[in-house]
Amino acid sequence: MKFLLVFSILVSATCSEKLFVGDQVLHIMASNEEHITLLRVLGEQEELQLDFWRHPTSPGHPVDLQVPFPSLQAVKIFLEVNNISYSIMIEDVQELLNEEKKTMKKSRRVERSTSTFDFASYHTLDEIYDWMDILVDNHPSLVSKIQIGQSYENRPLYVLKFSTGGPNRPAIWLDTGIHAREWITPATGIWTANKIAEEYGRDPSVTAILDSMDIFFEIVTNPDGFAFTHSNNRLWRKTRSTNTGSHCIGVDPNRNWDAGFGGSGSSSNPCSETYRGPYAHSEREVKAIVDFIRGHRKVKLVISIHSYSQMLLFPYGYKTAPVPDHQELNELAKKAVSDLAALYGTKYTYGSMVDTIYMADGTSIDWAYDNGVKYAFSFELRDTGRYGFLLPSTQIIPTATETWPALLDIMVHVLEHPY
Ligand SMILES: [Zn+2]
Repeated sequence: MKFLLVFSILVSATCSEKLFVGDQVLHIMASNEEHITLLRVLGEQEELQLDFWRHPTSPGHPVDLQVPFPSLQAVKIFLEVNNISYSIMIEDVQELLNEEKKTMKKSRRVERSTSTFDFASYHTLDEIYDWMDILVDNHPSLVSKIQIGQSYENRPLYVLKFSTGGPNRPAIWLDTGIHAREWITPATGIWTANKIAEEYGRDPSVTAILDSMDIFFEIVTNPDGFAFTHSNNRLWRKTRSTNTGSHCIGVDPNRNWDAGFGGSGSSSNPCSETYRGPYAHSEREVKAIVDFIRGHRKVKLVISIHSYSQMLLFPYGYKTAPVPDHQELNELAKKAVSDLAALYGTKYTYGSMVDTIYMADGTSIDWAYDNGVKYAFSFELRDTGRYGFLLPSTQIIPTATETWPALLDIMVHVLEHPY
């Protein structure tokens, strides 16, 4: 009887969680335009329930595709018949998720006993929001927490403000976690926010930046999606808003901005992972940032942090024409990725979004650039297709540590080039 009770509690606690038993992620090499077209067509077969971790772009660029167990045979036959070569990147998605859960549980036990925050572990939304308050408590004259709005499911949208005083200073905007499943990004965000607070008064660059500029840092930019990755589906990407007339939920919050909105680099299908939404800024999470940046008027740098692929990107994504500041942004990106590589040899590619990755419209950095923010960058953190979105927590601190000099390069450049 006791056993039965425990068993039924276990089942009810976990039954809402989506399992990925036997699902694989395939690393696919498209060697010509025909392959690209075929892969796109494959992705549109809704009954296969495929999920591109990296979309088909152009020949030579790897494509990562998550395939549910029941679709595996059909997909593999399709690839083989069409002479498209592939390897298995992740043998069993669920096994990797189980590993991830185990390490999270271990860290939680340690934290409870020592009351210290574990930067080397992934955390839930509640844990991250609690940590924000601790950061503010530890650095009350430098850090404060502001709320810029509410999510679709009414969660507060918190932003950490780093300021040494003075009204309406020029400002830097940083965000992580706009795509829910990219867990390495809020984890890097937490480490980085802590680093900024700790280095003020120690590191001359951080000190110089904060002596004349404010930094605004939104760590969990899509809290509904992020909470959902913990409770129901680890691989959820979008927001959680409901769409009229569709059974599919959520909008891609990085295709929802009013910059080339509605072009070919996003989808009008609510079931797509890159669904742009019914209209620009339809998502509260996006609108809150738009209103904040417009209201502030002195944001000079926007950095939006994603994963994965190891890239440093700048506008445009929605058109092929280079931005007027292309050369300066390109030089700055080159320096940043070279300093990033200095620590562990992690290689990044860099360039405009459209040249480096693909045509994408409605992105935050294009919107920022078109709205007067000359310095707008997007990082795609580790890795390049071993673990993808399921990067092990042992890589959090190395990832954050190597990214820090690149972030500093960009922030210092903006400080030294006022406009
Ligand atoms: Zn992303």
